[in-house]
Amino acid sequence: MGGYGSGRRWHFSAKDTTSDYRALDVRRWKRDGFLTPGQAFGWQWSRHGEVVASIRVRTEENKIRLIYRQRDRGTEEWQDEDYPVYLDWTPCHLGGKRPWFLCPARGCGRRVAILYGGAIFACRHCYQLAYDSQRETPDDRAARRADKIRDKLDWEPGFFKR
Ligand SMILES: [Zn+2]
Repeated sequence: MGGYGSGRRWHFSAKDTTSDYRALDVRRWKRDGFLTPGQAFGWQWSRHGEVVASIRVRTEENKIRLIYRQRDRGTEEWQDEDYPVYLDWTPCHLGGKRPWFLCPARGCGRRVAILYGGAIFACRHCYQLAYDSQRETPDDRAARRADKIRDKLDWEPGFFKR
């Protein structure tokens, strides 16, 4: 069952701006059997063959926990993050169930297939991701959006709904 180090590398496609974010795809985890409760695995992102970010994931009944460290914009201090993302399941036409993340941002809770990370993982709507060209670098934008979301939702860093 799982175990650390069983995560896969995530390869970005250069033409998709959303792919510059750290993305978690629940469908892919389902396909790879990573959603079974009681697992722990590492997940990492690499660019040009270099690991740029990594997190740990624990699976529980109908939720996962995301565990990682992040540095707040403008400070040098690392912050430990550890919070649950709840899962929802809907029936498929051909039988079986398909999984969804419920966006962990307070005041959101949208059912989405993909969560994007800046400092926190949230849905595309929270980050207002665009799919076309942007002036800012993705890292700038991700950090700015995270700050904005926190402002808007009165968000304590590391504090999530539920
Ligand atoms: Zn959201």
